[in-house]
This record gives sequence, C-alpha cells and structure tokens, in this order.
Amino acid sequence: MKRIILTAQALLVVFFLCAQDASVIQYGKMVSPAELKDYLTILASDALEGRGTGTRGQKMAAAFIAHHFESQGLTGPVNGSYYQPITLYSAGNPSSSLSVAGTPLKEGEDFFFFGSMDTGGLVQSSLIYAGKGTETDLRAVDVKGKAAVVLLESNASLRNNAQISNVRNAGATMVFAVMEKEEDFRTTVNQMRMFAGGRMSLNRPSGTSGTGLFLLTPGAAAQLFKTSPEKLLKAAAEKSFSKMKPVTAGYTVTSQVREIKTENVLGFLEGTDKKDEVLVITAHYDHIGRRSSGEGDLINNGADDDGSGTSAVMALAKAFAQAKKDGKGPRRSILFMTVTAEEIGLLGSEYYADRNPILPLQQTVVNLNIDMIGRRDPQHNGSDPYVYVIGSDKLSSELHRLSESVNKKYTNLVFDYTYNDPNHPERLYYRSDHWNFAKKSIPIIFYFDGIHEDYHKPSDEVDKIEFELMALRAQCIFYTAWEIANRDARITPDTN
Ligand SMILES: [Zn+2]
Repeated sequence: MKRIILTAQALLVVFFLCAQDASVIQYGKMVSPAELKDYLTILASDALEGRGTGTRGQKMAAAFIAHHFESQGLTGPVNGSYYQPITLYSAGNPSSSLSVAGTPLKEGEDFFFFGSMDTGGLVQSSLIYAGKGTETDLRAVDVKGKAAVVLLESNASLRNNAQISNVRNAGATMVFAVMEKEEDFRTTVNQMRMFAGGRMSLNRPSGTSGTGLFLLTPGAAAQLFKTSPEKLLKAAAEKSFSKMKPVTAGYTVTSQVREIKTENVLGFLEGTDKKDEVLVITAHYDHIGRRSSGEGDLINNGADDDGSGTSAVMALAKAFAQAKKDGKGPRRSILFMTVTAEEIGLLGSEYYADRNPILPLQQTVVNLNIDMIGRRDPQHNGSDPYVYVIGSDKLSSELHRLSESVNKKYTNLVFDYTYNDPNHPERLYYRSDHWNFAKKSIPIIFYFDGIHEDYHKPSDEVDKIEFELMALRAQCIFYTAWEIANRDARITPDTN
C-alpha cells in the first residue's frame, strides 16, 4: 500500500509539473511571429519618422505603447499614468569667437567650435602648446587650468581621440586642436556641422559645464603663436614645442539652451504573494529620427534598433497579463518599461535608475533588456538560431545558471557570449539601457542580435526582420522572465 501511495504522489507531482510546464508554454507561444510583426509594422513605419527623441514620431510611438499597456489591463505606475515625463537640455548651435592680441579670427574659416557649453562671457586664457599631446609631451608642459593647443595626427577623428583626452585629463580647461592640413579642417568642419544640433543632457548646461573644443587650421594656430605653420609642425615633431612662448587668447561660446520634452512609457503588472519585488523588462523605443539631408529615403525606421525589442516587450506584457487573468501569477510584480533617449546616451533609463525609480531599486530583482533581436549579423549567416547574451554572469551567477537552463528547457537557442567580455572593443556591456541598472548592482541580461550593415541607416526596415527567429528569442526572454518572477527564491547578486 505504502509503495502505491508513494507512486501516486510521485505521479501527482509529475502531473503537476507537466501541467505547470504546459501552461507556461501556452503563454510562451502567445509571443508569436504574427503578433510581433503587427506591432513592429506600426513602430517602424515611415509615419513614425524614425522616432527621434522629442519628435512627433517618438510621441506617436509612446501613445501606441501606452494604449497597448492599457488595453492589456496593465496599470500606469507613474501616479496613475503610463508616462514618465523627462526634460532634456541641449546646448545647440553654439556661436563662438576667438581672438589673439585684440585681433579676431574668423569662425568657420580659421576655427570652429564643436561641443555643448556656454562660457557665459569672454574667457581670457593662457594658451600652452602641448605638441601632439602624448603622455611624454604632457610631462614637458603644464596645461593645468589653462587652454592647451594640440597638433592632431593626420586623418585623426575627433571622436574618442586619445590626444584630446590626454590633454583634458592633464587638466586643460579648453582644448584647441590643430589639424595638420587645411583641407582636413574643412572636411571635419563639414562633418561636424551635421551634428550641430548639440548633445542632449539631463542637466541644464550652464557656465563652463559641458565640454567642447576649438578646431583650428594650421594657419590660425600659427597666427596665435605668431609663427609659421611649418615651424609649429616642426616643433611638435622635434619635441621642442615647450620652448614656444605661451600667448593669451580670448574666447567666448554662446549656446542656445533648448528644452526637449520626452517620456519613458511604463506598464505595471502587480504580482501576487511576492508583489513587493519587481522584475523590470526594458527596450528603448526611440531611434535616431530622420536624416537632415541627402537623397532618397531619409527615415531611419529603426525596425531592428529597437523596434524589435519594443515589440517584444509589448508581446511579453500581453502574455503575462493573460496569464494573470487566468490566475497564473506572476508572483513578483513586473514592470514593462520602454525607455526614451537611448540613442543619445541611455538618458531615459538613466533618468529612471538614477533619479526617479518608480519602485525601490532594493526591491528590483533583475533587469532584462532587449535591444535588437530581429536579425542576423554576417557572422551567423545560415547558422542555427542564436542570440548574443551579454552580462548574465556579471552580477549574479544564479541568474546566469537560470538563463542557461531555461533556454535548454524551452527554446534551445545558441547563446553566443562573444560580446559578454567587458573588454571587447565594441564594449556592448556598457552600450544599452541595462547598464544603468547594472551600475546599481541589479543583475541584468542584455539580449542582442549583432551588428549588421543596416545599423543606424534608413535601410533598417521591417522587411529585413526574421520574425520566426525574433519570436524564438522573445519567447526565450519570456520563459526567463517567467522563471524569475515565479520562482520561490529571489535572484540575488553574488556577494564578492
Ligand atoms: Zn538600440
């Protein structure tokens, strides 16, 4: 008898587990290619104009997502609203002046200011010639608290330029970067004018806050030091630049500070017996908007980046809401959050995590972030279904194990960990919204499909999306979220 009872109990347990699995799969399957395509076709349509932060298209996307959350029965957690309003500041279209010994140089001809700041009036500063700004060069001169002039390598780019950052790190208050050739100055100025809209920030720029630099022609730099361009280049090459006498120059930068109103869109699904703990699922719904000039298609549709992640968040919200209506969890609460201003520096998620978390961060168990899951990169042409998984093991080995075992059980995607190395040159661990949660020691997983030829181009269109593959990835995230939200023990960060 005893044995039989035990067997019956065991059978019951097996039956219960199977029933559990069956119902999880029933909801997982709701995240279908057809549904994802419905959402993405709207989000990435030309009507939404590339969803640039603060634009009409971004606001149309926000309204679409908020309406979806509402129709699924999710609540608006921001004082009853689905919108979390954010004000961004941009110090755009700076105008600048530069003069030496009372003689003004010509903006656009001799120099060009690039950056986001306002000097609030005339600054008189000593100019120190720092050669090529190598670490050795910077030991020969003292640029701290002064303006430094640095001769750029030929064909240097201004983005992430090591020479410029060396000079800044040495304490220079302003950088004057000299292009070796006049024509390189013209090309760079033309490129930079395309970005003249100015960087956006969560802080209002004032006084000397912000950063920027003056780009100079070799002729203008020589004029500042009352010498010839040849001598200036020679001094840097022969390391005799420290003998160049400092001069005093005056400069101003005046910027129009513009306010941009934008919003994160949040849908909240309250949990049952563990409702004070929350899982946050994110994707950014903004993109880079329209190209300002050029021919042909100018709308950067952002179907993959990150219409795909946004559609997945919407589909997951629907599946979890249906499960809840059927009395099946979630035990922990889930916050579905589509964030804004990712493309201009992860600002929407920074605003949430750093300044205004709607739910306490101590109660925030995990962040699952989805940024581009609709395509293949060239490295995976014809490969088995895969996804890049980034960050899962960084803060919680428990989360990493859960992520692996859930995938083995339900979706069997190939997890590619190439970009999981924080020292990988692409630095993807720092490049999407999960980073603002990771910074707060909240365990995260970032799901990504790789870098392809249509990245940040008008050709990132819906017709290039592989919806079967995208649905499989979204289902994998669904099952991972289900396990995190419904398991007994909370996922905890490693304690080391
Ligand atoms: Zn993105």
